[in-house]
Amino acid sequence: MPEERTLPDTEKTRAASAGAQTSEGIRTSGLKKTFAGKGAPVEALREFSFESRRGEFVGLLGPSGCGKSTVLRMLADLETPTAGTVTVHGRTPRELREGNGVGIAFQDAGLLPWRSVEANIRLPQEVAGRRDGAAVADLIRLVGLKGFEKARPSQLSGGMRQRVSLARSLVTDPELLLLDEPFGALDDLTRQRLNFELQRIWAERGTTTVLVTHGIAEAVLLSDTVVLMSPRPGTILDVVRVDLPRPRTPEILQDTAFHALCDELSEKLFTSRENGNAP
Ligand code: ADP
Ligand code: MG
Repeated sequence: MPEERTLPDTEKTRAASAGAQTSEGIRTSGLKKTFAGKGAPVEALREFSFESRRGEFVGLLGPSGCGKSTVLRMLADLETPTAGTVTVHGRTPRELREGNGVGIAFQDAGLLPWRSVEANIRLPQEVAGRRDGAAVADLIRLVGLKGFEKARPSQLSGGMRQRVSLARSLVTDPELLLLDEPFGALDDLTRQRLNFELQRIWAERGTTTVLVTHGIAEAVLLSDTVVLMSPRPGTILDVVRVDLPRPRTPEILQDTAFHALCDELSEKLFTSRENGNAP
């Protein structure tokens, strides 16, 4: 029988708040967001309470406007909750951001057109005044852009620009990677290829990751856990574990278990609409 180690209370607290020694990933409790504007306030998120494990790949899935990006922006400390709490690895988003612990990539790659690929990737390190993150050359190799170090964004395809954006999000060695429909504007084939590469990169680095998407198959393909959200005001409809073996290869797209899971998620999303949850 394994020996049980009893920690004094102070040590317990420290271990919990550091998060590093625990498997604690993302924790949100009673998270709410209402945007106050000139007109009537917009209730974007009604209730979002969720827990994941460290290193997990979480898919945030729901219809357009249900508050997915809002959740992501609160995790990134770009938006303040109206109510509720968020921690990642036992720390607040502010603490994580101040330690350069968050990497983000959006649908729009947002590259600086006058900078080369490598200079764009290096930018977050420069802004943070640090050079101790991941080596830029390694990241360029990781995202398959070797040979394009000196190219400008205008010389790249949409898929290549997103590869640059992904590399840039990883350059400070973030503990938390936030992806907001990063391949959403790309054609189906490119998106699919990049999704498999994203899986490889995530598996190699073990970073706690949240992917926002409205693609059911994409969420199932990549995630350990899929959080299903209702139409606005967003709430959690269900949290579904994806136990399909990894690495997931393109053959999975023909797999019966994969399709069954996609059907299950699809049904849950549509049932919630029929029940009057639509905006
Ligand atoms: P999703 O990413 O799921 O498409 P968002 O999180 O972007 O949804 O938005 C959720 C809702 O909140 C939408 O109705 C959107 O119009 C509204 N919203 C988002 N940001 C703001 C803001 N800064 N001010 C007012 N309303 C906002
Ligand atoms: Mg969005």
